[in-house]
Parts: sequence; C-alpha cells; structure tokens
Amino acid sequence: MLRITISIPQASRSCPARKGRIAIIGGGYTGAITAYLLAQRSHENLASITVFEPRETLGAGLAYGSGDLDLRLNVAAHRMRAVPGVPTAFFKWLEDNSRLSTDPASITRGGTFSRRRDFGLFMNDLLKPLIEAGQIAHVRQYVTEVQRNRSSWSITRSDGRVDEADTLIIATGHASPKIPDQIPASLVRSRRCIPADRLDAAISEIAPAESVLVLGTGLTALDVVASLKTHGHTGPIHLMSRSGLLPRPHASGDFAPHGVFETTDATARGLLRQVRSLVAETERNGLPWQSVMDALRHQGQAIWTQLPEPEKKRVLRHLRRIYEVHRFRMPPQVEALLDKQGSSPIDVSRGRLERVRDVNGKLEVQVGRPMGQGNTPLEVDRLVIATGPDAANMLDYQTLLRSMRDSGHLVPNALGLGIACDAHCRAVSSAGVPQASLLIAGPLTRGTFGEITGVPEIAAQAAAIADMVIRQASVSTRTIAISG
Ligand SMILES: Cc1cc2nc3c(=O)[nH]c(=O)nc-3n(C[C@H](O)[C@H](O)[C@H](O)COP(=O)(O)OP(=O)(O)OC[C@H]3O[C@@H](n4cnc5c(N)ncnc54)[C@H](O)[C@@H]3O)c2cc1C
Repeated sequence: MLRITISIPQASRSCPARKGRIAIIGGGYTGAITAYLLAQRSHENLASITVFEPRETLGAGLAYGSGDLDLRLNVAAHRMRAVPGVPTAFFKWLEDNSRLSTDPASITRGGTFSRRRDFGLFMNDLLKPLIEAGQIAHVRQYVTEVQRNRSSWSITRSDGRVDEADTLIIATGHASPKIPDQIPASLVRSRRCIPADRLDAAISEIAPAESVLVLGTGLTALDVVASLKTHGHTGPIHLMSRSGLLPRPHASGDFAPHGVFETTDATARGLLRQVRSLVAETERNGLPWQSVMDALRHQGQAIWTQLPEPEKKRVLRHLRRIYEVHRFRMPPQVEALLDKQGSSPIDVSRGRLERVRDVNGKLEVQVGRPMGQGNTPLEVDRLVIATGPDAANMLDYQTLLRSMRDSGHLVPNALGLGIACDAHCRAVSSAGVPQASLLIAGPLTRGTFGEITGVPEIAAQAAAIADMVIRQASVSTRTIAISG
C-alpha cells in the first residue's frame, strides 16, 4: 500500500481542521498580544487558542504586573504601539479611563510616562472580551513539561492535567537574574540578598534606614531605587556595575527618528562610525542625539541580521553596554528622583563583585575597583541583584525549558541570547532543523532578531507569527491510502 500526504486548502476540505489547536506558554505581553491577534485575525477558524499563564491576568507579565505605582514606562505612552494597526490604542485607553487627570505626574516635558501597571490593565481590558466570548482560554497553570507525539504536542500543567496542541508557541519571557557565585545561598534564603524580580515580596522587610547595595546600574536597578523611595527609604543606596553607566535621559519634546544606516559596511566598527557621524550631523541641525538612537532602534533588526557572526560578537563585546544606556532611557520621573537626592544619598560606581560574607549581621562586600580607587570593602544591610535577565542560560532556569532542551526540541542561541530560532520564529532543533509547529516569541528570540525587547517590535513579531500560524492551520494535511 502506498501512502501519499497532500495539502488541501481548508475551504475545500470536508473534515474539520486538524491543525487549529494553538497553545501559548506564557501570558505576559508577548503571549497575550499573540493570542489577541490570532483571535482577531483567524475569524474563529482556529479550533482553539489557549494561553497557559499562572498570573491572574493576561498581558501583565514581569514588566507590567507590579502593583508599585511608582514604576513607570520607560518610553512615552504614545510610543507604546501595542496593537498592530491601532497605534494609538494605549493612549486612547489612558484618555478613556481618565488616567491623564488621575495620574497628573505621568505628564512630563518628554511626553506621558504612565504607570507600568496601567499598561497591564490596558492589556487585560483588550483580552477580557475575547476570553469571556470563549475565543481565548486562559489556563492559570504553570507548564512543567511538553512532549512531542506523532503530530501534536502534549502539554503537562502543574496540576498534572495534559492538554494537546497542534502548534506550540513558547513565550515564557525573561529569566530571573543569575545569582552571582560570590553570594552564598544562605544569604539569598534569608532575604539579605534579593533578586530584583522578587523585591515586591521582600521590600516590606527592608527597614527605611538600612543601607542597600544594588548590583547593576540599568533600568532594573533604577526600578529598585524608585521602589525603595516609594517605601520611604532614607538609608544610603549604592548602585554598582562593571561599567558604572546609568541609562541616559529622554530629550524634551517630540521628534522623529533621524538617520538611515547603511548595511553595506556590516561591521561593529562601521556601525559605531555611522552612529557618531549621524549624531554629529543631527546635533548640528538642532535635533537631539536621541533621534539617531531611535532610528537605530527602528532599523535594528535589519542591521543585526546583516551582521556576520564575528561582527555580532564584537558588537556584544564592545558596544552592548553603550548601546543599552542610550537605547533604554530612564523615565523623567526617575531622573528627577536621582537629581533630588534629599536625605537619602544615592551613589553610582564602577566595580566587580568579589566576595560577600556575613560579618556580625552586616554584609561585607568586597569589590574589585578600577586601578587607583582602593578596595575597602563596603558594609551594607541588604544587597539587591538587578543585573538583568540571565539570557545566556535561558534554557536552564525552569523545568519546562530544560526538558525541551534535553529532548532536543530547543537549543540555546549560539550568541548566548535566548533560544535558537530561524527568521520565521521556528525553533531550531538540536539537529539544526526548524520546527514548523514549535515557535518562539518575544525577547527569547533576541539572538536572531537583535532588537526585540520593546512593545512595538514584539507587536510586529506577534502579527507575523499570528498570520503564519493561521496560514498553516488553514491547510489541512490528509493522508490518502492508495491500494496497489
Ligand atoms: C521591568 C521591565 C520594564 C519594561 N518597560 C518597558 C517599557 O516601558 N516600554 C517597552 O516598550 N518595553 C518595556 N519593557 C520590555 C517589554 O515590554 C518586555 O520585554 C515584554 O513585556 C516581554 O514580555 P514577555 O511576555 O515576553 O515576558 P514576561 O513579561 O517575562 O512574561 C512571561 C510570562 O510567562 C509566564 N511563564 C513563564 N514560564 C511559564 C511556564 N512554564 N508556564 C506558564 N507560564 C509561564 C510568566 O508567568 C510570565 O508572566 C520592559 C521590560 C521589563 C522587564
């Protein structure tokens, strides 16, 4: 008997779609916007759209789930183009929900910098009608394991139940920061050393007068400062990182991105040369350097994908930090907080963590400083780890991803930036083969796309994924038996 597999467009088939069960693991912004677009664009042609997310609502995730009202978006609200095709959706939600009047502190010289929590509420309002109408199922469970069957995926949740899906989208987002080896586990258990993503739960234990060392000087470290200040912190706060560089401020007013980057000189050095020359030209024309960084961000994916592998490594080694401090800028409210030192001093320094130990109830932190800056240990009450997600070990930090690596379905990106996938977001297996029914979404795909952290870039990727999944599902695969 000869078996032939043919593809028949859904319109002409008589049996129900066999590829229409879509499961998304992770319901932060990435998983939520992907589910939303699948529901909107498939016109109910998919058999099911299920999002596995233990949090109460979809769309909040790590970035927009904190109840801390002083944590603000780090870009102006009108730039949060969260819904493809409706660029003003979030700003309109702010207006419709009176946020511009009830949160006057959001309005600054650089635009409206809303509370992050409000963006999470906006996403919840976007998704809620679709969940209530049964178009999207939100399963409030953690996924612990996924196995491949002949033509589908078996998804095991933390309550032990198993669901089946034809297409699986991994949107598990940010890993926790890596706890430096120099920090004894006992200090983490006793909450004297606190990973920044667990600060919400531990902050009430930090007495206002305690001294705090924050490891890291990026936006997460500034979030820690904002949270401590909101809780009335008066003690000294030290921020320290290897570069000692803080995110730069936003420029006042509205301006368009400026500059076109040539991809013909696809080297790290060439890129730096172009940025410098465009910044000089832009400033001569009275525009801020921020407009060049915005152009670089917009063209970031095209530039990154053109760079040969060794040049990507050079960018990561030599330009990454300098890019990040200009690209991920601090909200004006945080800038004001740093300017207004008041009774609680904040100092920012360069240094490398060498050792942490408990000495008579204090943390003695030995720091490697640049030459000539001495090496007297710091004595503090708490240490907060705000070094950013551990993207290099993305597959190690949770059972699900570890098991999918062990089964060969997932491999780390070769540059240490998340999970390996191709230009269509298909996960590349350990055999080097892209898997059409296993997709990776959001910042996990940074190795392939480069610039894929902010909401507008994730939104555009989610739209491409949704269209591809809908196209795939509308082609039903049938096996016909021919006797001979
Ligand atoms: C603190 C912070 C502030 C930011 N601010 C801005 C900003 O102002 N503007 C902007 O454009 N961008 C901002 N970003 C960037 C961007 O919006 C985020 O990167 C984006 O939200 C990523 O969302 P995500 O869903 O991929 O990841 P996450 O937000 O990390 O969400 C992943 C979700 O997956 C769930 N999950 C994980 N594992 C499992 C599992 N096994 N089973 C089920 N569920 C699982 C988690 O519970 C989590 O809710 C910010 C990012 C951060 C971290």
